[in-house]
Formats: sequence, C-alpha cells, structure tokens
Amino acid sequence: LLSPDPAWQQLLAQVGFPFRVGRADAGTRVLIAPAGIKPREVAAGVAAAAPGCGLLTEGHTSGSLSIGETRIEWLPFRLGTATRVGRARVRAFPVRAPRPVVERVAARDRGEVRRAVMSAVRRLLDAQSLPCVRLAFCPPGSPTALGFRVDTDYCAREGLVATRRLADEAGMSFSWFFNTEAHGALLGELGPLLVGQDVQVHCHRHEVFRSVRANRENIAKATAILLTHGYRAVGVASPYGDWNPSWDRALAELGLCYASDFVAGYDELPFRPLVRGRLSPVLQIPVHPICLGRLHAARASMDSISDYYRRLVERKAALREPCLLYDHPGGIAADRELLVRILRDARELCGVSLTLTEYARWWHRREQVRLEVVLQPDAVELVVKRGDEQVEAEIEARGQYARVPLRSGRYPLAGLSWRPAATSTPASPGRLTWRIILSERLRQLRRQTHN
Ligand SMILES: [Zn+2]
Repeated sequence: LLSPDPAWQQLLAQVGFPFRVGRADAGTRVLIAPAGIKPREVAAGVAAAAPGCGLLTEGHTSGSLSIGETRIEWLPFRLGTATRVGRARVRAFPVRAPRPVVERVAARDRGEVRRAVMSAVRRLLDAQSLPCVRLAFCPPGSPTALGFRVDTDYCAREGLVATRRLADEAGMSFSWFFNTEAHGALLGELGPLLVGQDVQVHCHRHEVFRSVRANRENIAKATAILLTHGYRAVGVASPYGDWNPSWDRALAELGLCYASDFVAGYDELPFRPLVRGRLSPVLQIPVHPICLGRLHAARASMDSISDYYRRLVERKAALREPCLLYDHPGGIAADRELLVRILRDARELCGVSLTLTEYARWWHRREQVRLEVVLQPDAVELVVKRGDEQVEAEIEARGQYARVPLRSGRYPLAGLSWRPAATSTPASPGRLTWRIILSERLRQLRRQTHN
C-alpha cells in the first residue's frame, strides 16, 4: 500500500490480506496506489516490486489494462468515499413479494465494495499464476458460522418465552439485546429463561440521540440495570439500527466493545468505522437487516420467505462469510415454526453457530494476528509474527480454497485439501419506488418528532 490511507488500511486488515505500508520491494506482488499518489511514485513502486507485479488503483471507471508485464486494475470508486459511514438510505431487498421489502440501512453497501477489492486483488494474483492468501472470516471448524440477534423492543413476556423456545428448537444460543425500559423489571424472573444465552443491550429509551451525553446516559442506564441482574454487557444493538458519531463516541466512553447497527453497515464482515480519520474502538458486527416484520409488510408468502432465507444463507456460505440474522420476539412468536425450519436448515448449511459476542471476541483475536507471506506458483510460505490457534489462513487458487493453521512454514499447494470456492454473484437490489422512499422517510420523521 503506497500511502498510509486509513480507509485502505482498514479494509486490507478487515480482509486479512498480509500487507505493508510504504515502499515496494522484490516480494511485492500487488501494489495498491490510492488516488492522489503521483504517477512517478507509482512508477518507482512498480520498478521496485517483483517482476509482473499487479497494480490496483482507484478512480471513476472500472477496467483493466496491461503495460508491459504490469497488469493494472481500476476500481470504479474511491475507497474512502465508498466506505464512509453515517449516511443512511432506504434500500429494497430482493424478495418475491407484492410490495418491495425495504429497510433503512447504510447508504453504501460496504460489503460489496470489499468484495470488489478482493476480486481485483485475486485477478492480479491470478494473472501472475499466484495463489491468494488471507485470514479466514470465521473460526476453524466450518467455512461459515450462523448467529442470531434478538432485539427485545416492547414485546410481551410471551414473545420472550417463544424466543427461548425457538433457541432450544434450533439448538442455538441467541444474542438478546434488551430494552431495559420495557423488560428491566422482568429480568429477575427471566433468569432461568436466559441461562446459556447471550444477554446484551438494546437501549433504555428506544432512540439514538444526537448528543454524546444523551446516548451515554441512555445506554449507561440500560447496562446498569442489566448489571444489577448479573449481566455484564459488552455489546449493543442500536434502536432502529441507527448510527451517528455521537452514538459511536458514547459507546466508546462506556467501554463497550462492539455494536451492531445497520446504518453503519449490513451484510458485511466486522469492521471499525472511521470517525474523523480515526478507527473507532467500537467494533461493528453487521447483521442481515431484514426481519420477518419487513417481509410480512411486503405481503411476502411463506414460500417466498423461506426461499429468501435459503438463498441468503447459501450466499453467505458460498462467500464463507458469517451468516448473522436478526429478528424481534413479537415476530418470532407469530412465526416460530417457520423460523425453526429456517434456522435448522441454516445451521446445517453453516455447520457452526455462535453468539454475536463470541464472534466479536474471536474477531478481536483475529485483529491481533500478524502474518507475512511469500507467494509462489506452487506453494505459500507463511511467516507468522503473531499467531492464534483459533484463526486460520485461507488460500485461494484456481477457483478452489484451502485452510491452513497459522504456523510458519512452506505449504506446497499440491499437499493441501482443496474445496471448490463457489462463486457468488452480487446480491441484486430489489425494486424501489418513490412512494416507498417517501413513506419510509415519513416514518423516520414521525419517529423523530415523536421523541
Ligand atoms: Zn428496537
């Protein structure tokens, strides 16, 4: 990476590509030149890199071209802009239903941006007949992992009971994000219901505020109530999935280690938002933002709901990304049998289930890993500077992938157990009308004026 661009550093670390900031050397196989790097610096980088080294740069068009031995790939965006957090928009999700299935989420689909970068790097290495190496996105044991987040909102007690029943029937430990204003008084008697489950914070008042102080007071109140019942919260899921820099700051001041807010990100690997050029100490654990209520509002049939979840889980499994779903106890109580089937099928496909807190902790460990690699056409050499037995490296070559433990050494490609790396097409956005956009906007305004 030719400049210390924070957006690029964040993304490369998130993918788990071994990378270095600064000058290229004879081991450099892909050179990344963020926009703004002078052509002569790029040329000097190419000259210092390995012969045939690929060049990745960003701009306004996408394309590729070769100059001499150097293949160049352009990304059709600037990464800093394409991954900026904070702006929200109403997005339609691809469901067969009479009306569009919509949710207010991050304006930028940063998961798709990351996948585009990964594909470009893969093509540049392919052109050199080299494998691609990065850290795995999920713990050992399975290529993917399933997690389920529950926002308790204002549901009745029966909703909570139905949710626990669903967890048992699906054989999972859910991550419960509690609204303490609605359910704080119930927490004592809910004790037996929550044994073995992951208890975290949704809110006290169901709102994300504009000021740091209001957010801090709201969440501090909720964590204090949880603590009196013996639950030490480390994670939070924001009301309405909202996110703003004051919210992020408040969580950081309270020492919370992760948040799950789909206005910051959705359908994406964990990441740290860049706030005023600095990485947030609060890790985002994005989920898929569509819940049953949204599918019913679009009058989706049971068949098309099942079909939607099946395709979603298959896609996550194909990408070897975690499959993190979410819902509310009200919706769960109304459709428990449907969800049992969906979660059982998802579990079978994903192999492993974990809570959002377990996944956040695992990601923290993954962030500590330091790895260097030497790529050869027939082997990969790993130089593990700081390893972790719970994190593996994933090697991709010729449409296949293999996982190896993080132990220094030379790994001949012929000796690895390869599995087909299913290619997954980008999720196509659903159709959206102005009427839907305006009604969602109105809903949001009503919410703001109501508070
Ligand atoms: Zn909520």
